Amino acid sequence: MIGFGLPNGRPLLTHRKLPEAAMGPPYFYYENVALAPRGVWDTISRFLYDIEPEFVDSKFFCAAARKRGYIHNLPIHNRFPLLPLPPRTIFEAFPMTKKWWPSWDTRTHLNCLQTCTASAKLTERIRSALADSDDPPSHNTRQFVINECRKWNLVWVGLHKVAPLEPDEIEMLLGFPRNHTRGGGSSRTERYKSLGNSFQVDTVAYHLSVLKDMFPNGITMLSLFSGIGGAEVALHRLGIHLKAVVSVEISEVNRNIVRSWWEQTNQTGTLIDIADVQQLNGDKLEQLIHTFGGFDLVVGGSPCNNLSGSNRVSRDGLEGKHSALFYDYFRILDLVKNIMGKES
Ligand code: SAH
Repeated sequence: MIGFGLPNGRPLLTHRKLPEAAMGPPYFYYENVALAPRGVWDTISRFLYDIEPEFVDSKFFCAAARKRGYIHNLPIHNRFPLLPLPPRTIFEAFPMTKKWWPSWDTRTHLNCLQTCTASAKLTERIRSALADSDDPPSHNTRQFVINECRKWNLVWVGLHKVAPLEPDEIEMLLGFPRNHTRGGGSSRTERYKSLGNSFQVDTVAYHLSVLKDMFPNGITMLSLFSGIGGAEVALHRLGIHLKAVVSVEISEVNRNIVRSWWEQTNQTGTLIDIADVQQLNGDKLEQLIHTFGGFDLVVGGSPCNNLSGSNRVSRDGLEGKHSALFYDYFRILDLVKNIMGKES
């Protein structure tokens, strides 16, 4: 999963022909989990003007996997990566773990960072299984430990001692500033959840980098399902000025995180937040478009709760309660296109 190409690699594709209806303005960028149930991406693509998804695994950008599909109408030539390049292996990211890493654990990359984390009970079970076993441990013990380590992304922090990643370590892997999700009433559990759902900033920034030359004075963005602001952070780190951001996010904790990042980074543009995409109707959009002179970019990754592999109970596809919010992404994007088309 390398999409249309990776930094430093030979691009697979540098130009593509988009269907007429897909062309901007505005530019748009939609994200969701790559491994959705059969037919989901076909439907998403059909709604989003028949654009083919770009499937990319973030393991090519950072030390953790994250397989996502992106549908966008951005140009794809002259992309460039964010600098400094992030660590690409576990040892580069967490050098302290090297000392304790057993040779039989051959992982060099972490799996996809999830929304929840291993229990203390599990890490204790692993410790006692290893403490009670021979050195090197039996095949069965090793298999048990490795499976759990892969499943929960555990790293070695001492003799026989594995631990889940700390929230600030996940922030680093995902390309956010340290402590991005800390404070503002956000509990540890909420931090893991928001981080588990977020964009990998380096990956998204690579795709959005083409905007830098196109908008030297900055951009106005409609950010749907903003979460902890992966798109905002990506654009800022690319050095693209955020003239105005209308951010739509239902979680108050997440809205606070984005707001405090905005203040922290001394943004001079305007940040407006709205809670629910379902409140965003044609009248409201017309008013916003009038105020800001249109949107240059509409970004959003709608919830994947009913699509992703870990949720087997309610993996009921795009029509699931949360995942159906995709249709709001489309509804809003289409309204923006129509309103902006009329005004130009
Ligand atoms: N791309 C984001 C995360 C997207 S996850 C990032 O980089 O962090 C999907 C987000 O949609 C979650 O943060 C969730 O709280 C939010 N959400 C769920 N229902 C919503 C609704 N009705 N309106 C707005 N946001 C919603």
